Amino acid sequence: MKKYAVIGNPIEHSISPKLHNSAFNALNINSEYSKYLLELSADANMLRKTFFELNLSGANITVPFKEIAFSASDEIDDFAQKIGSVNTLLLRDDKIHAFNTDAPGFLMAISDFKDIENALIIGAGGTARALSVALRESGANVDILNRSSLRADAFKNHDFYTHETFKPKKYDIVVNTTPAGLTFDGLPCDEEILRKIFISAKYAFDVVYGRPTRFLELANEYEIKCKDGLLMLLYQAVLAFDIFTDHQHDKDEITKAMFKALN
Ligand code: NDP
Repeated sequence: MKKYAVIGNPIEHSISPKLHNSAFNALNINSEYSKYLLELSADANMLRKTFFELNLSGANITVPFKEIAFSASDEIDDFAQKIGSVNTLLLRDDKIHAFNTDAPGFLMAISDFKDIENALIIGAGGTARALSVALRESGANVDILNRSSLRADAFKNHDFYTHETFKPKKYDIVVNTTPAGLTFDGLPCDEEILRKIFISAKYAFDVVYGRPTRFLELANEYEIKCKDGLLMLLYQAVLAFDIFTDHQHDKDEITKAMFKALN
């Protein structure tokens, strides 16, 4: 039996095992998928060691390890290379191969959001990197707003703002990629900043899923189409499963099985 897991911290909330096990069952694949809490201080070596000690054939990596997973990998797919962070690891010929399915999963989740020219991403972690590449490749201009300038280097070709330097302008979409509402209560930045942006925005997207967040509650006060991260989670999982199973199964079947698990 092959073993897979999602690795992160926190991890208790993750429904990835539900999604993947549902697809394994539906497709009669003898594999199991679990969750693993990695200590917050873990570095790339520790992540690598954990992957091999757990005897995994593949893994998904979540907050806050997507950037160190990039360094922990032996081979990185071209698209993930561009992003600089990975969420899917596959063991092949004793090497860890890494991919990013968050970016295409996000684009699939917002396929009904049209005419996005200007986007604001709040947060500057691994997920922000993926979504920024996704949005740029679909033709949007992307600005970044983060609480600190610690990760500004990863966004050299963007307008990068901290809460202190930010000057509100018109954005078609505002995306929260911080764990606001997951690891801490409240908003990803000052309410006043968000109100100034929401007033002229068309869409708000929160990567956090499965719970009401202050970010989307506030966006809902405006005439904005809002979406949480559930569909993104679903699609990134479908694409990761497709990689785990070497593209041998119909993606619609995988999606159907995972969608069933969501309900
Ligand atoms: P990272 O740890 O890599 O990045 C987190 C970012 O949030 C950093 O920019 C950090 O700022 C900022 N941040 C952290 N705490 C606070 C705070 N208290 N106030 C304001 N900003 C804060 O995380 P990831 O990018 O990997 O993941 C982010 C979120 O995305 C998680 O909640 C994860 O569950 C979710 N996610 C959902 C997916 C889905 O499918 N729906 C897929 C992928 C991720 P700084 O740089 O200053 O440290």
